[in-house]
Amino acid sequence: MAGQERQAGPTLAGCRTVEEALAGLRLRGRRCTQARRLLLEALFRDPAHRSAGGLAQEVRASGAGVHVSTVYRSLDEFVRLGLVSRTYAGGGPAAYGLASAGLVSLVCKQCGSVTGGSAEFAGELAGVFMTAYGFAVDPQCLTVAGWCSSCRVTAGPETASAGSSRSGP
Ligand SMILES: [Zn+2]
Repeated sequence: MAGQERQAGPTLAGCRTVEEALAGLRLRGRRCTQARRLLLEALFRDPAHRSAGGLAQEVRASGAGVHVSTVYRSLDEFVRLGLVSRTYAGGGPAAYGLASAGLVSLVCKQCGSVTGGSAEFAGELAGVFMTAYGFAVDPQCLTVAGWCSSCRVTAGPETASAGSSRSGP
């Protein structure tokens, strides 16, 4: 194998369907197994970034017996090909999602969930940093830590300062 990978044709980041992505993989001589198809279907179904373990569960839910190591290997390859982006959410496991989504990853400090903001939202945020600091943010790598809508009630900044003795209904 050659050390350098040549980019043939348009980058895989521009793929908008599972079929386009599979065609792109084939074009580059990559394997298109059933496991990979199911993994791509999971990625295209929901653009939010999530862990490889979570993706493996989704693939298994479609009835295929796929080992998590297969999912890791495929994701690594998809990242190298520019199809998938990987973010490290506040010390948690790596989260994977479609690179074309241009996501902001909203990472909950309490439960570790990762919610994906839309591509437009990522662009807007990047614009704010550009205007304020002249800093060009990579919208694929935007990660914001905080509290999700569920955890905000019990662990958000307001309740944290007010004490944690209050109990719910
Ligand atoms: Zn949470």
